Amino acid sequence: VPPVALDAFLDGARAALGAARVITDPDVVGPHATDWTGRWQGRPPAVLRPGSVADVAAVVVLARRHRIGLVPQGGNTGLVAGATPLGGEVVVDLRRLDALGPVDVAAAQVTVGAGATLAAVQIHVGSAGLAVGVDLGARDSATIGGMVATNAGGLHVVRHWTMRAQVLGVAAVLGRGDVVDLNPTGLVKDNTGYDLAGLLCGSEGTLGIITSVRLRLVPVPAERAAVLLGFASVADAVDALPRLRSVPGAQAIELVLADGVRLVAAHIDRRLPLDPLPDALVLLEVAGDRDPLGAVQAALDQLGSSVVATAAATEPAALAALWRWREAHPDAAAARGLVHKADVTVPLGGLAAFVAEVPAAVEAVAPGATTLVYGHLGDGNLHVNVIGPAADDSRAVDVVLELVLAQGGSVSAEHGVGRAKVAWMARQRGPAAVAAMRAVKGALDPDGILNPGAVLA
Ligand SMILES: Cc1cc2nc3c(=O)[nH]c(=O)nc-3n(C[C@H](O)[C@H](O)[C@H](O)COP(=O)(O)OP(=O)(O)OC[C@H]3O[C@@H](n4cnc5c(N)ncnc54)[C@H](O)[C@@H]3O)c2cc1C
Repeated sequence: VPPVALDAFLDGARAALGAARVITDPDVVGPHATDWTGRWQGRPPAVLRPGSVADVAAVVVLARRHRIGLVPQGGNTGLVAGATPLGGEVVVDLRRLDALGPVDVAAAQVTVGAGATLAAVQIHVGSAGLAVGVDLGARDSATIGGMVATNAGGLHVVRHWTMRAQVLGVAAVLGRGDVVDLNPTGLVKDNTGYDLAGLLCGSEGTLGIITSVRLRLVPVPAERAAVLLGFASVADAVDALPRLRSVPGAQAIELVLADGVRLVAAHIDRRLPLDPLPDALVLLEVAGDRDPLGAVQAALDQLGSSVVATAAATEPAALAALWRWREAHPDAAAARGLVHKADVTVPLGGLAAFVAEVPAAVEAVAPGATTLVYGHLGDGNLHVNVIGPAADDSRAVDVVLELVLAQGGSVSAEHGVGRAKVAWMARQRGPAAVAAMRAVKGALDPDGILNPGAVLA
């Protein structure tokens, strides 16, 4: 961007938002420049903090006029450099758009600002006995706008599906600067034309900047229980999946492996949850109106000797402690060094073989690296974390993604494409699908100012 254009853009932004909302101080801009893993480092000249839909529209119109790339950013917890301005774009921080609308108990819906964190929305709707169908470990920082933009999945997909299934309406500023307010009253049935709100789900800030979301809510069950199940192998855990999925109220089926649990135990300074520690552990969470452990026990009886150990929890503190064995994995990995992330789906039939192959495949290109595998077993979604290679050495992730494609899986299960996986798009989706996506992008963002370099090269 020529400096003159950038200066004119920033002057216009100061006039529209107020000087205090246009930040160029490197100390304040710094945290917005890098991603959660620290692997991706951008160089934004400024961060803008709009506080209204009109502010966002003004920023987009100015960016078109001066040909400035914008990177929408929420909680900056994304793991594929989707919100990292690698090309020197200006960051648009949406966290001031954090209004929480009244909970519509009759419809079980709420409208919230795109910048509201998931945790804030959970507390807000929880007071009305309702919950958001998607939950994830980054809940204290991840925003609803970012979660819609990435079509986040998380821990409860086996019961409530991904973010797209929670979205009834979206308000957004598209790439031409026009504002759309799609289904603001949350009509459950509205078959008038294309599903533009659905299109914005998973668009990763490349088609529009989301300003608010009308969310479908789910009831909070009276009782919740979790069990940690030990299996002798990943194959045994996969074999148990149909039985676990059919437990009434099953809402999370998560996989961790012995190596990861040992790493977490060291990180959080706790004794191992099961002794001896089995190779594969599945955290099953069940929720319902009555004590859900009875239904779990019935499933365990049917699984017989393939379950080699169990630990159960029903009280909030014990539940949180059991969940730590799964949720502390990202932090425990990050504490060991820079983490390369591959978030993938593989068909369940090949999942055990994939888990067995990954460490050797990584070792071949990154000798001495630590490989951790964990994830959302119920969805066939695995997170492969590799610690050891330098930030710019993507060979370990590349071999993992090659294995995924060979299995007929997806190189991005729930984190999106961002900038990290752009090179894989053509192979994953095929040239015709990528051309169709380009056509959509060209129609909604004709000047290519919205998150340039993300999703599509
Ligand atoms: C510890 C940890 C656990 C996690 N667990 C999960 C998990 O279980 N499931 C899962 O799916 N993800 C998970 N994630 C990833 C991350 O939390 C999600 O991708 C989340 O949806 C990102 O939200 P955010 O507000 O931080 O978005 P950001 O990181 O700020 O942005 C992500 C993308 O969305 C775009 N974007 C952000 N806000 C807007 C907006 N208002 N309008 C348009 N585009 C926007 C950005 O440009 C970028 O492309 C985890 C991350 C961490 C660190």
